[in-house]
Parts: sequence; C-alpha cells; structure tokens
Amino acid sequence: MAEILVYVDHLDGTVRKPTLELLTLARRLGDPVAVHLGPGAEAAAAVLGEHGATRVLAADAPEFTDYLVAPKVDALQAAVAAVSPAAVLVPSSAEGKEIAARLALRLESGLLTDAVDVTAGDEGPVVSQSVFAAAFTTTSRVTHGTPVITVKPNAVAPEAAQAAGAVEELAVSFGPLATGTKVVSRTPREASGRPELTEAAIVVSGGRGVNGAENFAVIEALADSLGAAVGASRAAVDAGWYPHSAQVGQTGKTVSPQLYVAAGISGAIQHRAGMQTSKTIVAINKDAEAPIFELVDYGVVGDLFEVVPALTEEVRAR
Ligand code: FAD
Repeated sequence: MAEILVYVDHLDGTVRKPTLELLTLARRLGDPVAVHLGPGAEAAAAVLGEHGATRVLAADAPEFTDYLVAPKVDALQAAVAAVSPAAVLVPSSAEGKEIAARLALRLESGLLTDAVDVTAGDEGPVVSQSVFAAAFTTTSRVTHGTPVITVKPNAVAPEAAQAAGAVEELAVSFGPLATGTKVVSRTPREASGRPELTEAAIVVSGGRGVNGAENFAVIEALADSLGAAVGASRAAVDAGWYPHSAQVGQTGKTVSPQLYVAAGISGAIQHRAGMQTSKTIVAINKDAEAPIFELVDYGVVGDLFEVVPALTEEVRAR
C-alpha cells in the first residue's frame, strides 16, 4: 500500500489535534507515516501510533527549534526521498503553509492548500477547497510530482486506529538556507485555558449585539460551559471589546468547528467567510430578519442576554 507522509505539529512532543485529523485522512489514502521534528518523538509516537501511524520518522536537532521553517523543509525533503510517499499532508497553520509551499517548490510538485476534505481518487488524492467566501466548493488534484496538501483544522474528527508507530531515525543534512533566519525570542500568549480558536471543536462568537467589552463575560461563560473557544465579529473587535486574535471572518480567522454559536452577529458576508464551513451553526439574534438565519441549522430569535445565560445554565446542569 502507498505510504502517506504526515507532518507532525507538536509542542515539545505534545501532538496537536490537527495532526491526528491528518492521520485520519491519510488512512483513506494509504499507510500514514508521521514525520516528527524536534524533541519528544518517543512520547509523541504512542499517540501517533494510536491514530494509525505505521512509522514515525524522527529527527532532533537544535536547528528545528532555533531557526524558522527552512530546517523543517530540509527534513521533510529527506523524508520524501526516503519514503517516496503518494502524498504529503501538512496542517494548514501559518507555519504549515510556509513549509508546504517551500517543500512543493523543492520537489517541483503541485501544491493544494486549505483543504476541507481529502479523498482517494483513481489518479491520486482529490482535495476539496472552500472558496469565494465559502460560496463554492472546488475539487482538485495535483497533476505533477508528489502532491503536497495542507488541510484545515476540523476537516474530519480524529479517529483512533492502532498501528505500530515505530520510531525510526530520519537522517537530515541541512542546506545553507537552513540557518538563514534565527528565532530571537518566543513570548507565550497569555493562557486563557480555552482551546485555540482555529482548532476548537466548538466556537462561541459574539458580535455588536454583545454591546460592550464587559458583556463578553456572557459569551465566555457559555464557551466555558461547552469547553469552547471564543470568537468575535469585526464590529466587536473594532469597538475594542475583544482582541483581534479572536476575529472570525475574511480579515480574521477561518474556523470550521463541529458547532459554531453566533450571538448578536448579523451574518455579513465577510463574517460568513470565516465560519460558513462549520458543521452545525446556531445563531441567537433578536432580529428575525438577520441574514445569519439564512445559513443556520438552529436559530433562536431573542435577546442574547436572556438566551445565552439560559443556555449556559442548561449546559452546566447536564
Ligand atoms: P451588526 O452587523 O451590527 O450586527 C449586530 C447584530 O446583533 C444585529 O443583527 C442585531 O439584530 C443583533 N443584536 C443586537 N442586540 C442584540 C441582542 N441583545 N440580542 C441578540 N441579538 C442582538 N466582519 C467580520 O465579522 N469579520 C471579518 O473578518 C470582516 N472582514 C471585513 C473585511 C472587509 C473588507 C469589510 C468591508 C468588512 C469586513 N467585516 C468583517 C465587517 C462586516 O461587513 C460586518 O460589518 C460585521 O461582520 C458586522 O458585525 P456584527 O454582525 O457583529 O454587527
């Protein structure tokens, strides 16, 4: 069976959820082979194996942590040479997309970014992308070289499937560009205890209807009861009620959770662009004519200050 390389996104060996999603997708295409760069491969191998990685190619060197993406591209290129995979899957993070683009260039391969689904086709993986503010879904495949594909978080739910997950050392020699850009410092974001917005399975967002920074506590309370991330419309961000890092939409982040709850958000096209591919959409809006109701699975016409706390109480009671 063909092997599929999966680039492992991790923090010191703690594998992030998008990688487990990639392993699930990779199993549709062949045998997943994980590529783990930096410290923690042995610890990561257990969870990678539990999600279908037959092998874990591991390399550790200071270059992976002290420099930006170029050393990782060298390593992935070495993995492609060693495995001759049928495709390479990389998470669609900012770093993942840079790695994928550089790798595709090195391999003289076609590249597809921001896949929302990947299926097996007769002539290679078939990739779905959501385009034009999610108004269309396109399907494409790479016609030259080893397909390099970046996949958005939450494209699929990760499924466990026990495989060997045997760690093998990957030999990497770094090219002259590898140490071209050094990391000077890292400042961790203040921890909110909530999941990362783009990776969260549930997102609760507030808009202009929230009417003030302090009122976002109502949105946060529902989010915390559900274990969700908090998002915001641009109107709420521009008003200074919530940080820009939480903005969902065309000029913010794209989210595709299992459940998206929009409270006090009208549903402008630019907001939809960032959340329309969510699996289930719930809106709470006091205006029955609000455009958000055109795309929801469940809509509540009502005052968010009554509906959201009632919902929070109900969730907490369960
Ligand atoms: P409004 O459109 O003002 O809607 C507020 C809603 O809250 C209304 O529907 C109202 O009925 C409801 N409401 C009020 N009070 C209550 C209450 N008590 N209970 C329940 N409901 C209530 N927007 C984004 O979100 N993300 C982007 O990335 C983005 N990028 C943009 C890029 C460009 C180039 C442009 C031009 C615009 C962009 N916008 C973006 C802005 C977008 O066009 C809208 O202006 C914005 O999404 C509106 O935010 P909102 O829905 O919170 O506010």
